[in-house]
Amino acid sequence: MPAAERIDRVQLVLANARVLDGVGGALERATVRIEGQRVAEVGRGADVTPGPGIEVIDLAGKTVLPALVDAHVHLSAYDVLLPPKRGEEPRTPALRYFELAHTGRALLEAGVLTVRDVGSMDDHALHLRQAVELGLADGPRILTCARIVSATSPGCRIFGTMYRAADGADEARKAAREQFMVGADFIKVMATGARSVVLEDPEPPQLTRAELEAIVDEAHRLGKRVAAHAEGLAGTRLAIEVGVDTIEHGLSLHREPALLERMAAAGQVLVPTLSTFHDVSEDHAEKYPCALVEQAKRQREEAYLTLVAASQAGVTIALGFDSHPPGRNALELVRMANGGLSTMEAIVAGTSGAATACGLDGEVGCIAPGVHADLLVLDGDPLADLRVLLDPARIHLVLQAGRAV
Ligand SMILES: [Zn+2]
Repeated sequence: MPAAERIDRVQLVLANARVLDGVGGALERATVRIEGQRVAEVGRGADVTPGPGIEVIDLAGKTVLPALVDAHVHLSAYDVLLPPKRGEEPRTPALRYFELAHTGRALLEAGVLTVRDVGSMDDHALHLRQAVELGLADGPRILTCARIVSATSPGCRIFGTMYRAADGADEARKAAREQFMVGADFIKVMATGARSVVLEDPEPPQLTRAELEAIVDEAHRLGKRVAAHAEGLAGTRLAIEVGVDTIEHGLSLHREPALLERMAAAGQVLVPTLSTFHDVSEDHAEKYPCALVEQAKRQREEAYLTLVAASQAGVTIALGFDSHPPGRNALELVRMANGGLSTMEAIVAGTSGAATACGLDGEVGCIAPGVHADLLVLDGDPLADLRVLLDPARIHLVLQAGRAV
């Protein structure tokens, strides 16, 4: 019998666990039965008898939840993980690939098994995705936009190969097609300027309605999704009106509750990225010009107001760390809870909410028959304190497609 077939026949049963299903449900003293790479059954009852081909792990009150999904990461952004020091040995460009491999591994160990890359330098996310698929590197399931479609703008000078500048509806459509040509899973657009670029005003729309409509039409016709970077209200409104699938940042939305209601009705997801505002306003403020730090302080306050308003309006909210180091992604969930979500709501954002953002509903981010057995076992109760997700000593087991990482 070939090895792959033999492995597929083994059942793994996680018994006697608290199970959080990722969509808001919790079961005590429950079991999760895994067959091959998928969840076969979830149920009450702690007693399972081992038999031929059945491995039982008694979790004695530990917590099983879906592996985390992060809907807003940048797998490669230069000089972030290990900023160069003056006078040190010049770094070979090849280090970037080791850095990528390190990122993949760090995400796995933290139980982040699906990420949506919303822009990387030099197509690095495409490279890591292929390396993981070929088994050359350890890493999560990766969705990537390839390059971000942006108007010709000051940000193009800052972010270089992370962007594809496009002007006019036809060129915007071509830019979207180019991303699919190289293997993009979805399209990311800059609906507004970026808070991290001095020469950009994040308030007005940057791409025009005609440009955005062309991109959304192109993506949706091909069954692909569109994510929109959206800070100021006018650009955010435009992105929502043309039908993008996810709003990234979206901090201004608290100013116009009707837009949140519209998002909820249309199933458009908000990825609040609270952590990025903490980065620019405090955690890494020394790296930014003063004007951007002051702007980020205001934006941080707005992002928290929008988080609560969006939750109350019934908008699906997704985890998007948009920060570093990789593996600390659950800090975003801690911040969501500090900002007013319940711990359960934060966990839903980090599992099924983010899966919805990725277009992977029912594939990952929940525990139900048929979903991928990407699971996280915690020694502790994240409903009582989400910080167990950030403590490597409390991460008891990570299962990727039913196998221990
Ligand atoms: Zn980002």
